Order: sequence, then structure tokens, then C-alpha cells
Amino acid sequence: MTTSVLASDSPAPPRVRLRSPQLRATLRIQQRILMAVRELLAADGFVELMPPTIGPVTDPGARGAKQVDIDYYGHRYKLMTSGILYKQASLLAFDKIFNIAPNVRLEPLETATTHRHLAEFHQIDIEMAGASRTEAMHVAERLIQAAVAAVIEHHGNDLEILDRDPAALGSIVAGPFELLTHRAAVTSLHQLGHEQQGGSELDWVGEELLSREYRQAFFVVDYPKGSRGFYDRESRTEPGVLRNFDLVLPDGYGEVASGGEREFDYARLVMRMRETAENPAKYRWYLDVAREGLPPSAGFGIGLERLTRFVAGLPAVWQASAFPKIPGVVSP
Ligand code: AMP
Ligand code: MG
Repeated sequence: MTTSVLASDSPAPPRVRLRSPQLRATLRIQQRILMAVRELLAADGFVELMPPTIGPVTDPGARGAKQVDIDYYGHRYKLMTSGILYKQASLLAFDKIFNIAPNVRLEPLETATTHRHLAEFHQIDIEMAGASRTEAMHVAERLIQAAVAAVIEHHGNDLEILDRDPAALGSIVAGPFELLTHRAAVTSLHQLGHEQQGGSELDWVGEELLSREYRQAFFVVDYPKGSRGFYDRESRTEPGVLRNFDLVLPDGYGEVASGGEREFDYARLVMRMRETAENPAKYRWYLDVAREGLPPSAGFGIGLERLTRFVAGLPAVWQASAFPKIPGVVSP
């Protein structure tokens, strides 16, 4: 990773940052990533929708992050922590959809030093009716490869400004991406001397440790039920195991996307909500849609700033944003 002027621990004032060659190169690369993603998805028949940013409920699955309430004409609304509920519902209109949306999550203060967390970030969010996890993973792999290829093709100068070697970058995503189960990931972490719990989400330290073991992007699949929201579909043949995945970048960059097959059956959704201590009454509009019938689907969300950080080779994710919100840090 580069040790440029941007490698300092906290953002310089906007006037300094916005004029820095490194930030400008990074933002041009980010624009190219968005262009490449939109081009590939449009060619594949996906429809881009403008997602809501506020609503009566949002994704409860954001580990440890606090949701932000707003007063909506006397009703308590939320800023979206992710678009998952709307993505599933949008499949009533189109079989393949995506949106590029801001998410606000007041992440725990300890994430200010992971180099991977912002309190405001953007997701490239994809959902496909009738698709399997394998199909979703395939789209995720192609998107990352297309984004990297487009940057290498058009942004040689910007990569040079950022001291990012295009050949090395290309080889990291050459694929096919390896696949390991959550259980195998936990075993690897134990072998590395890290005390990762078997039945839960990989912790921040474990995720980075595992990422550092790899030279290529890879998938982790089959997370245990307790670790994710009610919308990740539980395996019918292996109860307790979710039909989901994370896409992890190597060299310490860590998770860049999460996804999976979705629960769509009304009764199971209510059951999963109860299991995850969510009150079904809160999710009324969503459950009303589900009761009338949601299509089975699979999808995922890619963190735009994390992908940009990786492509640009930056030490921290906040360096991939013009106006970064580092958890706990007061900033414009
Ligand atoms: P999640 O559904 O929580 O896995 O979020 C989907 C993707 O968004 C993740 O794989 C990350 O790439 C990105 N992401 C999630 N939380 C943050 C955050 N606090 N800051 C930056 N990116 C994030
Ligand atoms: Mg995730």
C-alpha cells in the first residue's frame, strides 16, 4: 500500500485534501469503477433503480452499528443502513435490479481504527429473482474483475500517482476466486492463534488476519445462523447454516461484499425475525409484500469505498471518500 500524503491518520481539511493529486486520482478511479459496474449490469439486463434513503424500518443486520432516527411528520423513520428490504420488494417490478445507494451506520467507536469502516458509505446493491448463491457469486466476481480491468485500461496515470502496480492489481482478481466455508475459515484462524468463535461472525481482527493469508480475492460461504440478519436464507438440508457469502480481498483489505440467497417465505421470515429478536410488527410493509408473495432471489452488496480503497491501494477506507465520516470523528 502506498505511503502518500494521504496515509496520514486523519483527513486534512477539505481545501487541502480536495486539491491533493492522490485524492483526485482516487476519485477518478472511483468514477471508472461506477461506469464499469453500470455498463456490465446494463448489458446483463439489470435495471438501475433509485433507492429510498429513509423509511419506517431498515436492515437490522448491521453488526453493532446504531441506526439513525429521523422525525418524519411525527413518525419515527430511519436512515437506510442498507437497501435489502427494498431490493427484495423491487423484484416485483423487474427480475434483475441494482442500486447504488448511501448507507448510514453509526458504527461502534472501535471501528475507527479498522481502516475499513465509515459511518457513511455507499453500496452497489444487486438482486436477482430466481438466482442461486453460485450465480450471485459469479456476478460479484465478474463485477470486481470488470472494475479492475477498466481502471487498469484507462487510469495508468492515476495508478502511478497512487503508486499502485497495475500488474499486481490485475493478478489479485484474475480468478477463479477460491471458496472456503465459514467453518474452514474459523479453523484457519485457530491455526493462526486467533480465538475466533465458531458460531458467530468473523471478528474484525480475524477478518483482517485471514485476508492477509491470501494473495487472491476469495469467498467465505455458509455463515452460521446467529451471525446474520433474518433475510439470509437458511439451508433446508443443513439447518443452522445460511446460504450466504462474503467476498474478501487479500493483503489485509478484508471484506468487500456480502450476499446470499434470501428468505422469501412469509412464515419463515416471521420465524427468523423472532429468532433474531426483531419485532415483526415493525416490518409491516415488508411482511405485507411477503405475504402476497416475494420471488426467491439472491443478491449482494459491494462497498464502493472499500472497493475503491483496494483498487487505489490506499491504507484506509476513508481515503476513498471526498468527505469521509470516520466513526466518532466530527467532520463535514
Ligand atoms: P454488509 O451487508 O453489512 O455486509 O455491507 C455490505 C458491504 O458494504 C460490505 O461488504 C462492505 O464492503 C460495505 N460496508 C459495510 N459496512 C461498512 C462501513 N461501515 N464502512 C464502509 N463500508 C462498509
Ligand atoms: Mg458483510
